[in-house]
Amino acid sequence: AGALYVVATPIGNVADISLRALHILDIADAIAAEDTRNSQQLLVRLGLDRRRDWIACHQHNEREAAQRVLDRLAAGQRVAYVSDAGTPGISDPGAKLVAAARAAGHRVIPLPGPSAVATALSAAGFETTAFHFAGFLPTSREARLKAIRAVAALDASLVFYEAPHRIGDSLGALAEALGGERRIVVARELTKLHEQFFAGTLAEARDWLAADANHSRGEFVLVVEAAAPDAGDHADLDRVLKPLLAALP
Ligand code: SAM
Repeated sequence: AGALYVVATPIGNVADISLRALHILDIADAIAAEDTRNSQQLLVRLGLDRRRDWIACHQHNEREAAQRVLDRLAAGQRVAYVSDAGTPGISDPGAKLVAAARAAGHRVIPLPGPSAVATALSAAGFETTAFHFAGFLPTSREARLKAIRAVAALDASLVFYEAPHRIGDSLGALAEALGGERRIVVARELTKLHEQFFAGTLAEARDWLAADANHSRGEFVLVVEAAAPDAGDHADLDRVLKPLLAALP
């Protein structure tokens, strides 16, 4: 019977592909991909370069692409779904496709593998009994601050994804909303040649970023330590005190 295989792919180092992913990508009747050209290149690098059927399935056509996948599943085919990098569905398309396959009664089989959120958390050194994955912060300043404040007091490590052009704004907003003393680990270019971690306070992270233009390059995961038990009070106090102090002569 047909099945939809949700296949995680490397987030940088191509050797992080799993043996199981190699096998399924090799035997799949069709591969649905967020960006078919990008995934075709990956398959060539993995030595799986035979001709095969590709289905473009991205944010803007996920519903109609899902129908094409469903037709193949109904015909008993095995379809693999890959996103650009990492685990499909994690800050990536895939949810609609998976829901459609489930609703039609098909098997959905996940192949676990790299994801930037788990990779960063594993090397952050913060308590991860609970963590809150917030994905990308909103672009507007106000919405960004609001989103951070909404999770500020959670008893959980906070994880954010960020792109190079917004890393400065996000670190600034985190320091503003959480206070400069909260600790952060910035994970840059995970599994890649220029992999780098910065660990320190949010205030120090802003200095680190400003110290070298290279620090703003690449892809980022920001892991912020959970609030101290009474941190909510401090954050409030900070908000009240700051304008008062600024107003002093
Ligand atoms: N599906 C992917 C996953 O499982 O992690 C995430 C896709 S999302 C569109 C891309 C974002 O993930 C990047 O902007 C960055 O925040 C994070 N990311 C992906 N690869 C990364 C890497 N090698 N190093 C650091 N962050 C990475």
